[in-house]
Amino acid sequence: MMKVAKKYAVELDHNGLPKDVLMQMPLWYHIGADPSKVQRNRSVTAKCLQNNHKIFTVHEAIQLLQRLEEEEHYPANFCRCQQCAHDKDHLGCRDPHRCITTVAERLSQLKSRWDPTKLEDNGLSIEDVDLEKGDICFSPYPEHLHLLSSFRVFTNKKWETHSEVAPQNAENQSQPVQEHRETTVWCGGYSQDPQTTTAKAGGAVWYGSNLAQN
Ligand SMILES: [Zn+2]
Ligand SMILES: [Zn+2]
Repeated sequence: MMKVAKKYAVELDHNGLPKDVLMQMPLWYHIGADPSKVQRNRSVTAKCLQNNHKIFTVHEAIQLLQRLEEEEHYPANFCRCQQCAHDKDHLGCRDPHRCITTVAERLSQLKSRWDPTKLEDNGLSIEDVDLEKGDICFSPYPEHLHLLSSFRVFTNKKWETHSEVAPQNAENQSQPVQEHRETTVWCGGYSQDPQTTTAKAGGAVWYGSNLAQN
């Protein structure tokens, strides 16, 4: 699947992604992380965050980070505040404070346009929209309200669409004519059971009704 995605230049459309989508981005192997900084995605602490704390998205990371603001939390491995005690006794984490500071480090590695906390907030959220009350939902990127809708295929602009056209008379039969023309193709994708071992995904392209290329 990854090979196919690479072949057809599947990319995340990252132009002006709203806060909601930035929050849904995966914390690990984040494409917006500063490449000059070392990303430890498989360290002992990273594994604790993934396997015990279930931290996978930027949103989940920011939520965990809020513990640093809690008065009862003491910034050391022996903290037994309510949440650290829960992590130690029920999740199997040996050092919750270290896990939290690791999350803080990971978030600080994000380039500013990928960091939802640095995005200018207009105070609006899609959750506040109530269409039944007459609210009108407008967004310059309406299709970007979910991360899964933000991927684009055929993003390599060097590609050109062309097709061979059959020669029209006997004189040029030996030299097929190359005609450049635009084709509009609709793409659709679907995923099932994401973030599980039974995850499946598929996609399809549609050129038009009753066409063999579909
Ligand atoms: Zn604590
Ligand atoms: Zn931990």
